[in-house]
Amino acid sequence: MRATWQKCFADSPDVLKDDRRRRTIVPVLDFEIGGDTFITMAGPCSVETESQLLSTAHHVRNCGARILRGGAFKPRSSPYAFQGHGLEGLKLLAKAREQTGLAIVTEVMSEDDVPLVAEYADILQIGSRSMENYTLIEHAARSGRPLMLKRGMVATIADLLRSAQIALDNGNPHVILCERGIRTFETATRNTFDVAAIALLKQVCHLPVIADPSHAAGYRELVPTLARIAVVAAADGLLVEVHPNPANAWSDGEQSLDFVAFDAMMTSLDPYIALRGISATDPASTLPLEAVG
Ligand code: PEP
Ligand code: MN
Repeated sequence: MRATWQKCFADSPDVLKDDRRRRTIVPVLDFEIGGDTFITMAGPCSVETESQLLSTAHHVRNCGARILRGGAFKPRSSPYAFQGHGLEGLKLLAKAREQTGLAIVTEVMSEDDVPLVAEYADILQIGSRSMENYTLIEHAARSGRPLMLKRGMVATIADLLRSAQIALDNGNPHVILCERGIRTFETATRNTFDVAAIALLKQVCHLPVIADPSHAAGYRELVPTLARIAVVAAADGLLVEVHPNPANAWSDGEQSLDFVAFDAMMTSLDPYIALRGISATDPASTLPLEAVG
């Protein structure tokens, strides 16, 4: 590794690749993140209603997603915006898992909520606004659930790796990194998708890297293109917002794909995934019997 990077990431020695640790594979239910299969996490920004969540879960599953996303505890810019359904949202996520076999990723915002969220979720999401909350990361890491750490809006790659190191230091090796765009002077997109961060992380760090083109772009028209770029940049998977009716979404409708657009995006990824020499999830191979037809 370049001396520059060794110096830059000196605070996070255990997340860097070495001869012993080339990659970390994170087991989730009956599959793996960071292995030889590209993994898609998809679902609404927020858990809104039972029919919204369940219809989305069935659709994304039929398109090859393995993980359902959806916020039950929502970090919002405005204190008057929808803050999430909390426990009721977690219960709906669990119901969707039962019906579809999808794993669940959902955000935990406070250390007090870690035991509750860990009871329902398969992966705990640490949101961008919390990436430097070391107390939250410590508690979340000690739950034993895999963590997905979303890069802070103004966090450097070294900052992200420092947070990952905290999780490892607290006994949890199953850390997934997520590039979701950073703040720059650009205002035409919601954030600036830092594709170099994905490529760099995949070179220096053994942890799986997920790309979130939805929060990076802010506009649904850009999401499929950014998703394909993420595949080429060697991401291990995607986190994508999907909603049955984006125009009526309670949060992040502008960047949410509808079912038709998600289906088209997933199909469009296949040749890029094949070029990497890894596999896509074949939807037919993973459907539980009750979900077929
Ligand atoms: C999200 O994924 O629901 C979310 C709030 O994203 P971020 O923390 O990246 O803003
Ligand atoms: Mn969102």
